Amino acid sequence: MNATRNVRWELDFRVNLGDTGSRFAEGLRDGILYGTKCDGCKRVAVPAVEFCERCFEPATEWVELAGEGVVESFTVVHIAPGARPRPYVMGVMRLDGADGLFVHYLGGISLGEDGSPPADFGPGARVRAVWEQDRTGSITDIAHFEVL
Ligand SMILES: [Zn+2]
Repeated sequence: MNATRNVRWELDFRVNLGDTGSRFAEGLRDGILYGTKCDGCKRVAVPAVEFCERCFEPATEWVELAGEGVVESFTVVHIAPGARPRPYVMGVMRLDGADGLFVHYLGGISLGEDGSPPADFGPGARVRAVWEQDRTGSITDIAHFEVL
């Protein structure tokens, strides 16, 4: 017999961010979104990475991004853990000056009763980061991205 049961774990972790992750987090705390440029292929990744995921060369040049970009894709989240009121919108964005994609909350989008986004919203929408006033060095220092 293979009995199963639901188990809820609440675990607190303390994670070492390393040098690159620490500098990225410090940037968030200061209201600056950093990427890093690959020494080899020159692609800019955001969040900042120590090594390029494409060519595995070090990414040592820090690039300050404006925190604006274009929505490439999005999804409306109806079921998820956490305290954020649902439904909400998660965006996949290509930020100006970066080559990779960046995932974050999209705010200020009025969803219909069935959770559908407005007809005039979709891929190609320009967005800008909205920063929290009190920042701690976390990705949630960006409250969300707003449509311009
Ligand atoms: Zn590279």
